[in-house]
Amino acid sequence: MKYIKGVGDYWTKRLKRLEIKELKDLLYYFPRDYNDWSQTKKIRELKTGENVTVQGKVVNINEIKPRSGLKIIKVAISDGTGILHGVWFNQGYIKKTFRKDVTFLFSGEVKYSYGNFEINNPHFEEVDFQDNLHTGRIVPVYPTTKGISQKKLRRIVKNGLDKYLGDVEEFLPEDIINKHKFLDLNYALPMIHFPESKELLKEARRRFAYEELFVLQLILALKKSEAQSDKLGIKHSKENGLVDKFLDLLPFDLTKAQARVWQEIKGDMESNRNMNRLLQGDVGAGKTVIATLALLKTVQSGFQGALMAPTEILAEQHYLGLKDDLEPLGLEIGLLVGSLKAKEKKELLEAIEAGEIDIVIGTHALIQEGINFSNLGLAIIDEQHRFGVKQRATLQEKGDNPDVLVMTATPIPRTLALTVYGDLDVSVIDELPPGRKPVITEWRTQQVRDRIYSFLREEIEKGRQAYVVCPLVEESEKLDIESATELSIKLQNEYFPDLKIALLHGKMKPTEKEEVMEDFRIGDIDILVSTTVIEVGVNVPNASVMIIEDAQRFGLAQLHQLRGRVGRGQYQSYCILISDPSTDEGVERMKIMTKSTDGFVIAEEDLHLRGPGEFFGTRQHGMPDLKVADILRDHKLLELAREDAFALIKDDPRLEKRENKLLKGILTENFNYDFELLDIS
Ligand code: ADP
Ligand code: MG
Repeated sequence: MKYIKGVGDYWTKRLKRLEIKELKDLLYYFPRDYNDWSQTKKIRELKTGENVTVQGKVVNINEIKPRSGLKIIKVAISDGTGILHGVWFNQGYIKKTFRKDVTFLFSGEVKYSYGNFEINNPHFEEVDFQDNLHTGRIVPVYPTTKGISQKKLRRIVKNGLDKYLGDVEEFLPEDIINKHKFLDLNYALPMIHFPESKELLKEARRRFAYEELFVLQLILALKKSEAQSDKLGIKHSKENGLVDKFLDLLPFDLTKAQARVWQEIKGDMESNRNMNRLLQGDVGAGKTVIATLALLKTVQSGFQGALMAPTEILAEQHYLGLKDDLEPLGLEIGLLVGSLKAKEKKELLEAIEAGEIDIVIGTHALIQEGINFSNLGLAIIDEQHRFGVKQRATLQEKGDNPDVLVMTATPIPRTLALTVYGDLDVSVIDELPPGRKPVITEWRTQQVRDRIYSFLREEIEKGRQAYVVCPLVEESEKLDIESATELSIKLQNEYFPDLKIALLHGKMKPTEKEEVMEDFRIGDIDILVSTTVIEVGVNVPNASVMIIEDAQRFGLAQLHQLRGRVGRGQYQSYCILISDPSTDEGVERMKIMTKSTDGFVIAEEDLHLRGPGEFFGTRQHGMPDLKVADILRDHKLLELAREDAFALIKDDPRLEKRENKLLKGILTENFNYDFELLDIS
């Protein structure tokens, strides 16, 4: 770095603040925006409101103090056709920059004031006649920080480009460059920093967006081929005794969609390839049954199974359900959650390690150190969107390459699925069990609370149950819990003195939570006032009303999940959003919710409203950090990149061909991809 003109030791240190450590970082430190100052004009032709660049000789430098506390610097330039003033307020130091008779460029929006054209706070630069960086062109605007000015940064980038361009090696395969007509790296780099035209900027952007997506897809393709290698996987037995017994006892038939995805999963498990499968199915589609079948299959083959869920409430629910269903078949089920007493935990861990427990259900507690399975054959993650990609890997490492099934009710729009879950095979349950009626969703304001509650009473009198959900915003958990508590008291005292109302929130002791959930499940509670702890997975088919307070405070995906807690049985169910949104986006969300019950539609809308980063929230660590590409706008490019990457890995699985050598280097160096992983045959 310090060999670049104008950098030296001092700037080498400063640039580190921007994570620019090597030449590569500098060349790939792309502008976050551009100012188009490429339109130059004669002063005589100026019009107010135009964004232009004007070139002229300094004819006058003036400092005015119209009142105390205000200092105005006016610099007049002339190009022979007229005079233009650059105007600065309270920036006295600027005066020193200018000298009479020196030619400058001023860029900015033109105004007409007291008989003169002027530009307030113009971008300016002394004319170099060859090499202007800050005006008279499309000017890059970099993300920067205190102590590193735009101008300095532009200069350093420019010097870096001048010194090293031509020596940068193109690493994208030649046939890909030709096929998509991409700019060569040595041309694309200057064009993304100092574009000669808007068209060239667009082309440079297209190349770098592709490059980013292509590398990402290469890694996914490698992971996939790594996972599919014959030597790694567990070959589950074709015997189906336990599975068949369970299916016989099941009070319903599998839906067509369930039967189909089960065949897909069964096929994976019986093959000697490693299963890495994502099971998508909207809320209430019946994913748990499929998980149960897969767990039975692994036990049948002599292995242990694990099922991880994001909340204790859900883990507990799965545990109770599986215990009921599977203990009669002779299986041992264990529940591993953070709240276990030390002694219970120790005993459980020993039993797991000794192989005495067939199926372990748990929360994050499952992937902690010190938890060892005797022989884990299958790891399942429920509500995968609540976990990160890392946690999936950690669970998988609890065994010797167990098969992995991840399940999610949050439908992932296709573009995102290709980016985040691109190494997984996908099965979709695209059909709800028979007899389900779509949940009727209504948006109501605070004003009509009384009417909402009289409707609620009618439903309870029919024998149904209800949820009332209060928002939980992490920063003020305490306040939220207080307001949920207050609401439950108010409902009990003012509206429903004769009904059984209970409160559930995350700060309650686990045993208390369990009791409340159990009472609700068996129908001893009419109305459950809860925070979002019940957001995912909870299954009480008799509940038919979901009332969501301050619904505008939830994202679409969350609202859809919450709504999914009702409509899980044969009863017509209702979701009532109580909301007085103050933003357009809030209004938009309420409208989308009342219009559609289709999780895919809602997820696509959500993605558009919030953008990919927000869509997954901070929980989703698997969302790659894309600098140039925008997976919404660039979805076509993403598909191309995926096709190309998978074809390349198919043709050259370990990137051993000479023409792919540089690419391999990039993956190892920049992404720490370990090619040893592939050396297995
Ligand atoms: P999710 O996909 O949201 O996890 P669950 O697995 O909890 O859904 O299933 C929701 C409800 O549907 C449960 O009560 C379950 O017993 C029931 N169910 C699942 N499959 C069927 C089916 N094929 N026919 C009828 N009911 C089913
Ligand atoms: Mg579920």
